[in-house]
Amino acid sequence: MAEPAAPGGRASTTAPAEPVLEVSGLVKHYPLTQGVLFKKQVGAVRAVDGVDFVLGRGETLGIVGESGCGKSTVAKLLCHLERPTAGTIRYRGEDVTRLSGRALKAVRRNVQMVFQDPYTSLNPRMTVGDIVGEPYEIHPEAAPKGDRRRRVRELLDVVGLDPDYVNRYPHQFSGGQRQRIGIARGLALRPEVIVADEPVSALDVSVQAQVINLMERLQDEFDLSYVFIAHDLSIVRHISDRVGVMYLGRIVETGTDTEIYEHPTHPYTQALLSAVPVPDPEARAHRDRIILSGDVPSPAAVPSGCRFRTRCFKARERCALEVPELAVPAEFRHQQGPAAHDSACLFAAERQVVR
Ligand code: ADP
Ligand code: MG
Repeated sequence: MAEPAAPGGRASTTAPAEPVLEVSGLVKHYPLTQGVLFKKQVGAVRAVDGVDFVLGRGETLGIVGESGCGKSTVAKLLCHLERPTAGTIRYRGEDVTRLSGRALKAVRRNVQMVFQDPYTSLNPRMTVGDIVGEPYEIHPEAAPKGDRRRRVRELLDVVGLDPDYVNRYPHQFSGGQRQRIGIARGLALRPEVIVADEPVSALDVSVQAQVINLMERLQDEFDLSYVFIAHDLSIVRHISDRVGVMYLGRIVETGTDTEIYEHPTHPYTQALLSAVPVPDPEARAHRDRIILSGDVPSPAAVPSGCRFRTRCFKARERCALEVPELAVPAEFRHQQGPAAHDSACLFAAERQVVR
């Protein structure tokens, strides 16, 4: 059932100088059961199925992919809200994958999550002050009791909210303001890493840019590293130093802004980019729109070989037999250009043919 792992010795393009998080072979499978009384495992939902990346200090890694490809599961694994089925997560060089008790609590402080939907992720019965200060209840060592109220007010100020709002409730705020509250809460423990799971997807376009600008300012001010998750390539472009494109539980292409947006080599990235609206009518007219065939397969029935092959316009027989590794394609390895970045496609170097 399990496919052979991609061969080792991968030639990665980008290795940050000071890695904060190193993720290797990360897997999360959820058991698929049948029967009510006598539950029998009949398979697995392969939500995350072999993800590798490195996050450098002060860097933003954007992760993009369609709904259901495993982004939120990656986020939960990074924040230790779920336990991986396999693989390792290193934090500042230390394997923190299977910690428990006090040691786990200590690492959790350093990696905080900002959730997708500020409308449902904030407890409506708690005041803003209690929401932002709640992490201090869980980690009392982080701030002396007498100092917490002052810190909460300061956090509100830092995210651009009036400190006098501490006694208000979430429903008294707009979506953008609520996400600022969520961010203030995420900052309370002064983490080193923030995993933001589609932090602006639920917001109006006009508000999205404000929240992204805020996050950029906070990154400088607090020396933060971000994993910034989105389903839309255009949202992560501005904020990310590097981008990883996910499909059905795996990262299929990763590179810098220019590499991914100007020189994508994976057919899936090419298709996603071809669907991004182009404001310039001239440029629009000269562009090939790639329409992918069929739907995303279920993560409980992942295709053999390359998992993208059932929808790929380049697919041929070999794609069903071989799992392409995420590495610089051999044809590009000798060159310095922007095509020389990690891409999990056996035919990445072939010219883009649109069927
Ligand atoms: P995304 O955030 O990219 O939309 P998710 O990580 O939420 O994707 O989900 C990936 C896949 O895993 C989906 O098919 C989803 O239905 C499945 N999944 C997520 N959580 C669970 C769970 N607790 N039990 C079973 N399947 C799950
Ligand atoms: Mg999600």
